[in-house]
Amino acid sequence: MDVVLEADQLGKRYGNTWALRDCSLHLPAGRVTALVGPNGAGKSTLLHLAVGLLRPDAGAVRVFGESPYNNTGTLADIGFVAQDTPLYRDFTAAELVTAGAKLNRRWDADLARNRLAQLGIPPNRPVGKLSGGQRAQVALALALAKRPRLLLLDEPVASLDPLARREFLQSLMGSVADAGTTVLLSSHLLADLERVCDYLIVLQSAQVRLAGPVDDLVAEHRQLVGPRHDGGPLGGVAAVVRASHTDRQSTLLVHTNGTIDDPAWTEREVGLEDIILAYLADGDTAASHTEWGVPA
Ligand code: ADP
Repeated sequence: MDVVLEADQLGKRYGNTWALRDCSLHLPAGRVTALVGPNGAGKSTLLHLAVGLLRPDAGAVRVFGESPYNNTGTLADIGFVAQDTPLYRDFTAAELVTAGAKLNRRWDADLARNRLAQLGIPPNRPVGKLSGGQRAQVALALALAKRPRLLLLDEPVASLDPLARREFLQSLMGSVADAGTTVLLSSHLLADLERVCDYLIVLQSAQVRLAGPVDDLVAEHRQLVGPRHDGGPLGGVAAVVRASHTDRQSTLLVHTNGTIDDPAWTEREVGLEDIILAYLADGDTAASHTEWGVPA
């Protein structure tokens, strides 16, 4: 497997707080990876480390085999759309496309102009006066004009309405599929991600909770409903991710490592959204127990 981005025990600290800690992961080439986690999980920090805007306090991050920090060679291959798509708001889209040519070694101005024309974005209006969806499209067009091998997007659709979100993700998928670009996309909007991503990384409390190809993760997780279960091993189950109980019955979301052949359990498939929520809910409870100093 070709790896585009690799983090090895990566850490970033603000004062005494680790925004990201012991983070080890890799990003396979040519995939669209979802980076998911609650507010404050460390998603932006990871993206900023990957694009060389921050320097690690521990471990290492490598993009195309090199540290991106202060590395103009590697940065030329990375496109980045930051949160809230910050653009020079007094500039028009046409001016931003022209300016990009001066700031980048490789710049496909025609690609940007064609995209924006196709999307009906007015070229001569200051981008501060465009709609949120249009601004997001301008930011994406500018990032794609670099012809990046790796494209990082930090909550690109958070402020868009459902229609603009769908249009944005469709146009993103169209352009990256043609070019074989590797994409890492952070978002809270799990349903959107399920449609467009084929690899998943879940971050929580500065650490990686789950990572892998979406198809494998969905195949390996099941919901089990059966008699009340108070712990102990279950055949075919590697880990119970989340459990809820009534007096007589337990509902478990489990990570399997084989066949569940105990007929007492009814087995159901689960979607990606349920899997992510189960991991996040479990971590929330554990973190809260630690904060309160009581056993989980
Ligand atoms: P996310 O993108 O998942 O919401 P962030 O990477 O923005 O998470 O933040 C991770 C943690 O680091 C949070 O606890 C946040 O408060 C903290 N943090 C982020 N940036 C700064 C900063 N510039 N100064 C101090 N703390 C920060």
